[in-house]
Amino acid sequence: MSSLDVAEDELGEGFVFSEKPLGIESGEGVHLTGANGTEYLDFGASYACTPLGHCPPAVVDAIREQAAELLYVQGSYPVEARTELYGKLGALAPGDLRKVWLCNSGTEANEAAMKFARSATGREKIVAAKRGFHGRTMGALAMTWKRKYRAAFEPLAGGVEFVDYGDADELADAVDDETAAVFLEPVQGEGGVNPATADYLHAARELTEDAGAALVFDEIQTGLGRTGALWACEHAGVVPDALTTAKGMASGLPTGATLCADWLADEAGDHGSTFSGGPLVAAAANATLDGIVEEDLPGHAEAVGDYLHEELSAAVEEHDLGVREVRGQGLMVGIEVKRGSNRLLRDLALNHEVLALPAGRSVLRLLPPLVVEEAHVDAVVDALTEVL
Ligand SMILES: *Cc1c(COP(=O)(O)O)cnc(C)c1O
Repeated sequence: MSSLDVAEDELGEGFVFSEKPLGIESGEGVHLTGANGTEYLDFGASYACTPLGHCPPAVVDAIREQAAELLYVQGSYPVEARTELYGKLGALAPGDLRKVWLCNSGTEANEAAMKFARSATGREKIVAAKRGFHGRTMGALAMTWKRKYRAAFEPLAGGVEFVDYGDADELADAVDDETAAVFLEPVQGEGGVNPATADYLHAARELTEDAGAALVFDEIQTGLGRTGALWACEHAGVVPDALTTAKGMASGLPTGATLCADWLADEAGDHGSTFSGGPLVAAAANATLDGIVEEDLPGHAEAVGDYLHEELSAAVEEHDLGVREVRGQGLMVGIEVKRGSNRLLRDLALNHEVLALPAGRSVLRLLPPLVVEEAHVDAVVDALTEVL
């Protein structure tokens, strides 16, 4: 209902998202409740944005308290919530990535990393991976592989070369003394849930170091505990020069961060954003990060992720479900099917009250809130067994 007093046919309508036939009214934990009272298990975590579940009380309280005190102040005035967030992110970052840039989305975090790398190296070329996804602004989109996302908007930012994901030899050929940065997701999300091997990430580290280029890990989907470690790069023991995070960092409020090594930050050039680290979002992020660490959600994600993987693989084998592969890490799971993923997702949602995500046409993607329990996994595996 609009509170504006205008005729029905004069009201605007959204046009970018193709909306699903389910209106959502509220959320709690791993569940969303629809307008008609139907309860859904949210195994997509609404694009991996609710690591602590929907409306986690500690985050809601932090938002209420901050809202009553100060909604917004420009980024050049220090404010406790933002200062605290800089501190926490630096402390949680892998290696020595202590310099923190705050923004409002994943694409902006990558856009910033791209700018910082060009500025610090004085070079133009960016190497990114086929099937990679880094966002939709003109810079981040230039590093995003899928033609469907790019074609209508070209020309994008130039200077990006794509290599096969996982092929260290091809990467070695592409990275040279004109390369500003290599951008990689440690597990490709949107591109089909494709984990990189530790060897590949090590090779990327050595090649960029030798070439004087920045290694940037896009951990927007893999980070904050999802893969069973706080950052997915920890599994391989590789520390990049910059790491980007976003999605669930503030439990669904718009945010993103670029964590940088000193050499990138010191020559970052001129960059900015009005809403960078606004107090309301920062308060939500602080409470979210506290929850992830205090409840050891990376450890929980590893344990429940293993359980999910085992139960799913067992069901696939037992019932001969026509699944090509179950893959992923922790609570980032891809199920490669033979038939179209969208039809299956629709069936899951409308007939089994389970929400999940696609990753391309043939992969179902599960990214549940990190607080899921084995009982939720059992329900989802049963639903998937029926749908498949
Ligand atoms: C979602 C995502 C992005 C883009 O984030 P937005 O907040 O939608 O701009 C970039 N990279 C990866 C790996 C993502 O999953």
